Amino acid sequence: MTDSSAYRRILVKLSGEALMGDLEYGISSPVIGKIAAELIKVVESGVEVAVVIGGGNIFRGEGLARGGIQRVTADQMGMLATVMNALALQDAVEKQGSVSRVMSAVRINQVCEDYILRRAARHLEKGRIVILAAGTGNPFFTTDSAAALRAIELDAQLMIKATKVDGIYSADPKKDAGAQRYDRLSYDEVLDRRLGVMDQTAIVLCRDHQLPLCVYDITQTGSLARIAAGDTSVGTIVV
Ligand code: UDP
Repeated sequence: MTDSSAYRRILVKLSGEALMGDLEYGISSPVIGKIAAELIKVVESGVEVAVVIGGGNIFRGEGLARGGIQRVTADQMGMLATVMNALALQDAVEKQGSVSRVMSAVRINQVCEDYILRRAARHLEKGRIVILAAGTGNPFFTTDSAAALRAIELDAQLMIKATKVDGIYSADPKKDAGAQRYDRLSYDEVLDRRLGVMDQTAIVLCRDHQLPLCVYDITQTGSLARIAAGDTSVGTIVV
């Protein structure tokens, strides 16, 4: 099934864990290379691509806080972890001959650009993959919320959450063999059923701004390009 209204601009949320592959921590070089190739395919098809990247493969504020670090400091460390991932993804993209820019919500401008909405939009218009780091720049948020926020600000027509499962299920399919997979859901169904796909702030933002969300399996080669081309049969769509 293909949606006739193809997208001009999409935003992909990549969790830090997506970069790990089989590792327990950090970044797998072949995995990040494959992800970069998937993103490049989409850009080459003429769709503008922004990426919000997480940091869970390195640090999460919550975990650090449990270990005794003050929460705001812990979240700042988490945000810096996302900057490291963003630099690694930029490197992987540029090794494959495509152009990308890292823009951070926390000022760290000897390393990457500051996030400025109009500048980000300009990079996108020029066909550069824009990798948005440091989440919202504020503690107590997640990169899921940052992704929803940036997708709305940048006027993306679709937000895509890349995960390790092929859509949204009624329960965790890795733990519950009877878990049912959904093709299509409303935001309120996701909220009411507490389907743990993204944090609630992110879902509410998507709902209030009518931003469609697609959840798909990043390990399936070619899926991202299909979704970006308007194929609604991949993953679960939340509208
Ligand atoms: N973070 C934050 N504010 C934000 C986004 C992220 O403080 O707007 C911190 C938070 O500590 C979080 C960490 O950065 O745990 C890494 O982000 P996240 O957990 O969302 O990464 P993912 O789970 O997507 O890998």
